[in-house]
Amino acid sequence: MLRRIFAFLISLIMIAGMASCEIMPSHYNGKSENNGTAQRDIFAMDTYMTLTAYGDRTEEAIDRAEEKIRELDTKFSAGNPDGEIGKLNVRKQAVLSDESKYVIEYARKIWDMTDGAFNPLIYPIMKEWGFDTKEYHVPEEGRLEELVGHMDMGKLVTDKVTGEISFIDKAMEIDMGGIAKGYTSDSIMEIYREYGLTGGIVSLGGNVQAFGKKPDGDAWRVGIQHPDGEGQLGIINVEDKAVITSGGYERYFEEGGTRYHHIIDPATGYPAHAGLASVTIVSGSGILADGLSTAVYVMGYDKAVKLWREHSGEFDMILYTDDGKQYITEGIEDIYEPADNDNVYVIRAWGTVHSNSP
Ligand code: AMP
Ligand code: MG
Repeated sequence: MLRRIFAFLISLIMIAGMASCEIMPSHYNGKSENNGTAQRDIFAMDTYMTLTAYGDRTEEAIDRAEEKIRELDTKFSAGNPDGEIGKLNVRKQAVLSDESKYVIEYARKIWDMTDGAFNPLIYPIMKEWGFDTKEYHVPEEGRLEELVGHMDMGKLVTDKVTGEISFIDKAMEIDMGGIAKGYTSDSIMEIYREYGLTGGIVSLGGNVQAFGKKPDGDAWRVGIQHPDGEGQLGIINVEDKAVITSGGYERYFEEGGTRYHHIIDPATGYPAHAGLASVTIVSGSGILADGLSTAVYVMGYDKAVKLWREHSGEFDMILYTDDGKQYITEGIEDIYEPADNDNVYVIRAWGTVHSNSP
């Protein structure tokens, strides 16, 4: 019975969409504030979010954070013409706020870092599959080939004098879906800091970011969801870090017995299948963790390891492969508790070892 209730709860989370990580100590009681604690559930950016804060001005901080989330939801939504990104997509050129410019330039940075595995010009392809409206369908022959030809980041230009952003190729449209939540959780951390909170943690559809420590002085315990839907891959103990997961299991549809998910390989326009079932990135930067979780899922194990070796000071990762192995980078070896110690390997600066090997 308990197992059935658990399975039901998990399926609810799945329906809610994209719950990849959960915060472990769940003495959770809805919207509340007492003894310097406040917690609130919000639905925005097409996902369920939970904000938790500790300190003296928690309710004010959470009000401000909610306001910020709603502002960014409109601002970054690719299909909302009231927002800046939506306007840019329609008009093909626009003068944007510093915040939107920052996020676009950050997307370019991740595109560059990942040799194009991350490409924010994916929006026409997302639409072609129906991921914008949830009216899913497999595109017609030749259509994706045509669309991948309109994803040249060199044709997204910023005027150095006016700051205006324009698409040289008018078929281009931009989608911040791969990094918007990470930027949003970074912004909430900033708000928590401004309000002088002692600690806090947010989960934006399973993407978690922690501020400071728990009230008892310990690190936050963040569970990484198992892509199969039940249980967890493990728990990571973090302070002041984002823990962001991407996986094909988060959003998908089925047609003709085949599953099609929402992380697209920009080289083909088809859902990426590089041998990974889920990718978790751990970093002090939410926007970096978010962008890289999407990109590494597309890149696969070998390219991911190379990328990490070049940037090991900036992030760590947990790769869960289609054949059930966990690969973790050495920076999180001491703070990660895998649910099952078999099949766990540590990626080091030089080589990879089984975590139980002497
Ligand atoms: P995430 O859940 O962070 O992995 O982001 C997935 C979302 O990012 C999708 O719903 C799309 O909006 C967008 N996206 C999909 N594939 C890519 C890609 N290769 N590069 C950049 N954004 C992508
Ligand atoms: Mg992402």
